[in-house]
Formats: sequence, C-alpha cells, structure tokens
Amino acid sequence: MKYIIEHMEEGFSEWVILEYSQIIREVGSSNLILTSLPSSTTDKDIPPALAKLGLQWTTQECVDIDGGIDKSRVCLLDPAAETDLVPEDGQSYDYFVFGGILGSHPRIDRTGILRRKYGFAGRRLGELQMTTDTAIRTTQRIIETKQHFKDIEFLDYPEIRYSKYESTEMPFRYIVKNGEPVMPEGMLELIKKDGEQSIDDLI
Ligand code: SAM
Repeated sequence: MKYIIEHMEEGFSEWVILEYSQIIREVGSSNLILTSLPSSTTDKDIPPALAKLGLQWTTQECVDIDGGIDKSRVCLLDPAAETDLVPEDGQSYDYFVFGGILGSHPRIDRTGILRRKYGFAGRRLGELQMTTDTAIRTTQRIIETKQHFKDIEFLDYPEIRYSKYESTEMPFRYIVKNGEPVMPEGMLELIKKDGEQSIDDLI
C-alpha cells in the first residue's frame, strides 16, 4: 500500500469516478486505498466502475489503516508545502497521502484540513494546482521512476475545444504525453459533455 486518498468530496461524481479509475489502473488496486469515507458507507455505495477495478476503501482515517501507521513515514502532498518532492523522499516515506478534492479556481486550501489534522511532513509538486490523478502520476514518476520534477514535461491550463466555436480552459497543470495533456480515460468526453450542457442551459 503506497498511495492514500482521503476522500473529501460528497459522494462520487462522474469526474471523481474517472479520476479514481485512472489512478487504480496506473498504480494498481493493491497500492491505493480510499480513506475517510462516511461511517455509513457500505459496498452498495461504491460505484460499480470502481468496485470492478478492485478499489480498496475504508471509513477509517488514513492514520488508522493497517492497524495504525507510523506518522513519520507518511508524506502529505500539499500545494502549500515549502519543499518540493524529490526521488530521495522514497527512502523516508512509505505512504503518500492526497486530498480527494476537486480543484477550484482560484485554489482554495482544502488540503490544509489534512495538514492541520494529521501534522504529516508535506511536499509540494511545484507551484501550480494539479488534479488528484495528475498529482499521483507525478509522485509515481518521482518516487518510483526516480525522475526529477524539473525533467517531467508539463502543460499548464490546456484549452479543451468542444465545438468549432467553444472551448474551455482547464485551470490545472497536466503531464504531457505525445504533445497532449494526460487525462483519465473518458475525461475529454465528460468535459465536452459538461461544456455543451452549460451552453444548452444558457439557451
Ligand atoms: N484547491 C485544492 C487544495 O489545495 O485544497 C487543490 C486540491 S488538488 C485538486 C487535489 C490534491 O492533489 C491535493 O489535495 C494534493 O494532495 C494534490 N496536489 C495537487 N496539486 C499539488 C501540488 N502542486 N503540490 C502538491 N500536491 C498537489
């Protein structure tokens, strides 16, 4: 178990399902756990797409998993931390905690709730806000592939065109692959659908 997402959204939106699904595909279901789900959560509340991918989840807080984890071996990925994550951090930490938070623009410091609550060491992934899946993908590159942050190619605030005339700017930093921002499977379609929906709502 390496990656922990403290789920901080209400329920599971389509966006969250796509992000978490992609994370499971990339890190493997045995290396990810979703923590702090509401105490009333049962298997029936877990979206089938995530259950099918083998999502591990718990209503416990991240500190209580595995019978209680050693806080000194836990790193919170925190946009407000003062130190950037480096490959050598892989020797100091066994668990990497992320906020299961949908980004907002401008950024609201909801990761601060986790920072204040648990007091874990914090590491930053550069100064710009990433989606949770991008933050995990970047951590995986740094910790597992030993790539330095400065050597990872990013694209900031890409514009997604969803019709001949309309586009939307995503207020996040993404990893680039083949010249395109890396996004969860199905995310482009969802962004386009949401864009078309908001135009329909204006008509
Ligand atoms: N506005 C949100 C906040 O900071 O509360 C941003 C949340 S971000 C969409 C979701 C999670 O990804 C954060 O809780 C954090 O764990 C991780 N993350 C995103 N960008 C990051 C960065 N630049 N450095 C470190 N962690 C980051």
